[in-house]
Amino acid sequence: MKVTRESFKDCKGNVFQVTVLTVGGKRPGPVFTIVSGQHGMEHSGPCFLPELAEELDKEDIAGTLHICPCANPGALAMDYEFYPEHEDLSRINDYFYSRFRHEYSPWGIGRNEAQTLYNMNRLWNRPGEGIAFDITRWLWRNFVEEAYLTLDIHCLQALKPLVYNDFAKNNPLIALTGIEGVWQCSANKSEYASGNLNFQASKREGHYAFCIEFSIQHGLKESEYALGKNAVRNLMIKLGMLKGEYRLPDRPTWSIPEDYWEHADMFKAAHAGHVRYFFDEYDEIRKGDKVYEIRDIQTLEVLEQGFATRDGIMSRRSHLPVMKEGAHLCSVIEAEKIPREL
Ligand SMILES: [Zn+2]
Repeated sequence: MKVTRESFKDCKGNVFQVTVLTVGGKRPGPVFTIVSGQHGMEHSGPCFLPELAEELDKEDIAGTLHICPCANPGALAMDYEFYPEHEDLSRINDYFYSRFRHEYSPWGIGRNEAQTLYNMNRLWNRPGEGIAFDITRWLWRNFVEEAYLTLDIHCLQALKPLVYNDFAKNNPLIALTGIEGVWQCSANKSEYASGNLNFQASKREGHYAFCIEFSIQHGLKESEYALGKNAVRNLMIKLGMLKGEYRLPDRPTWSIPEDYWEHADMFKAAHAGHVRYFFDEYDEIRKGDKVYEIRDIQTLEVLEQGFATRDGIMSRRSHLPVMKEGAHLCSVIEAEKIPREL
């Protein structure tokens, strides 16, 4: 395995190293580049990718696989989304994440407050100064620009991993990841959003890129590492980089349309109380199925029940255990299976 390390300095003179692991490169074949750890509270890719590189290094690989597990070491060490190099970093010591105030930022520059250029995944191919800009430029020039396929790995707060995709051309590859939900996103992006890695890498003809989101932030979920390793191995088999059998789950991969709200029952609570869902994320639902009910906390009576008015899949389940009137519950979305072409 080839190990490449580069040092980067922030505005206060602190130095951080970024490491890229390269396996293969001895026989001709495509270049596949994986980037993870752009956001500091997303630790799945950073944790399983070094292990995967060691495992793949023992195999006979055609082409070249570059893996940068920890693209943003300053942010990862703080367990915070970005590394705000100009701010008072000690404020992180009084910060306690809660998913009930997910958008809160100790510096007042959370997603609802600012389009911060500290956010590494908004800086790709954008001019600017700062350590996150410097790292993206180095990764792009040396590892992403040449890649036939770029995989960007993140984590969000959800029940299951999912994929974000900007271009339909990526769907046949995504179907081999084994991930159940693919959220198709608009390729018409704002200037800010267009600085994201999979958009920049995938908008070029003859290049492919998408983003896998694992399902925990600010924590570890080892149970998903095998899924991540299988996704990479399956993609390598498809690209002719690795010999072996595809390992895929029984459950299909669903394409969720960009304008999903036009094709969905979007349930909102009409009462306060405990909610009970009858389907897991991405389960198939038939028209007429009971999707959820809400029970009064004092009388224990069922106050309301929700029934699907269409065939679809369970999606966007709220994480809130106690509902308030008008709160979002879940959606039943008409989605299509993406065929798996092995
Ligand atoms: Zn992220």
